[in-house]
Amino acid sequence: MFWRQFATKKAAEDAIRAIIDSQPFDKPFESAFLSDLVVERHYFCSRRGLRPSRFRKLRGYSAYTFEGDFSTAAAPRQIGWHGVSWTKCLAPPESDWDRIVRAMRDRCEPAKTAYRQSHPTCENCFAAPSHQAHHARPTFHTLTEQIRNSVADAAISDCLAGWDWFCAKNFVLPEDHQITKLFDELHARATLQALCRDCHNLTKKRKLQANGT
Ligand SMILES: [Zn+2]
Repeated sequence: MFWRQFATKKAAEDAIRAIIDSQPFDKPFESAFLSDLVVERHYFCSRRGLRPSRFRKLRGYSAYTFEGDFSTAAAPRQIGWHGVSWTKCLAPPESDWDRIVRAMRDRCEPAKTAYRQSHPTCENCFAAPSHQAHHARPTFHTLTEQIRNSVADAAISDCLAGWDWFCAKNFVLPEDHQITKLFDELHARATLQALCRDCHNLTKKRKLQANGT
């Protein structure tokens, strides 16, 4: 079973859409089913036991903006209506380490951008304009695995402990944490390479094969 009585993700999606589509805009509604979905499957709320009591859909630039009412949830501070993505509740669960790796990617984005800007020509074919900087040595995957292997499991949960999803949806590495320091240190020694679109696509393919994914 995918979740509860639903054999597939598509079946769960259809049931959720049927509920939300039947609701008018701007009018709060209750749905124990949707509240359960969030508290059981949302990546942040499920960990903290945060169960929204009501929902509403607002007109947005996509089909609608979906919000949950967290005012009765046992949150560390007063939280009222807050955007909550039901589609993300259906996504495969990400591990704590996955979240940290994603934050590592975000953290080195400025360095990668700066590198590409200072290397306007592809460093592989020396012909096309550079499009993207990538981690040449070691690969980003190797670099993160090195960190994973040198920290205890407790450091991982500790790193995520202060994350407040209500303030920042994406987890950001805390400045003075052991994992952050290790990442900064290793990343400063890593070699970047600026690549054009074609060379970058080729490299990506090679990396995926090497990681066996
Ligand atoms: Zn190239």
